[in-house]
Amino acid sequence: MSVATCQVCDRPVEAGYSLCPACELDFALLLLQFVPWTHALEASLDATLHPGGHQPTRIITPVAPTPLRLDVLDHLDLLASIAQGLWRRLTGVHILDWKRDLCPDVIGCLTDAAMHPRLAQLPDVGMYVSQFQRLKPKTLAIIDPPEPVTPIGQCLTCGLTVTATRDAETVTCPVCGREQTASAVRLDLLERSIRSGRSFTAGECARLLQSCGYRISRKTITSWKTRGLIAPAGADDAGKPLYSLACVVDRLRCDTPCD
Ligand SMILES: [Zn+2]
Ligand SMILES: [Zn+2]
Repeated sequence: MSVATCQVCDRPVEAGYSLCPACELDFALLLLQFVPWTHALEASLDATLHPGGHQPTRIITPVAPTPLRLDVLDHLDLLASIAQGLWRRLTGVHILDWKRDLCPDVIGCLTDAAMHPRLAQLPDVGMYVSQFQRLKPKTLAIIDPPEPVTPIGQCLTCGLTVTATRDAETVTCPVCGREQTASAVRLDLLERSIRSGRSFTAGECARLLQSCGYRISRKTITSWKTRGLIAPAGADDAGKPLYSLACVVDRLRCDTPCD
């Protein structure tokens, strides 16, 4: 006679059980995580919302948006059908009293299932565990998309433009394979921008300097101009004043650090 084992981790379990206590708890917590995720998915349905950080903010899109994001709608449908399937397996379909098979909504199915006393005894619970585990990365990709990468400068060996996320500490050049610190690449870009003698708007100067660890804002630069501490080197097509980066850096270095 074979010993019953947990359908997730293969450890022996009591007769009549299909999940060990640890895997039952993990699965219940996973189901409960889908409660806030479902709300975030519903909020992400509106194509004019910019998803991210579980707190979407409205953006103005350059083209008329599709009113609903169909990929999110499909994903919510899939989540609902799996959650309802699990709920029906746990509560049983009543053939004679069919009204008792009226499922609650997705949230209700998830919370009922997570707290159901027979969750660890369902004969095919392993299939539901793997279905919810597969839904997790897709769900997180919709509600918390990976941080965008932006160009940070040029590879110190081959000169190709390298990109990184905001908090990346090292970057690997996709062409020559050199691993380098993001700060070295950013400093190199800053030094070359200074040497080039090019002029930038106050916002561009601030961004370049901030990416190298300087604490400076666009407002500081414009206030220097107002106070006559620096003079613009010209203006761009829109009439915005342009500043020589070298002048801004000189001003920054002779300013008191607490300014
Ligand atoms: Zn287990
Ligand atoms: Zn390279």
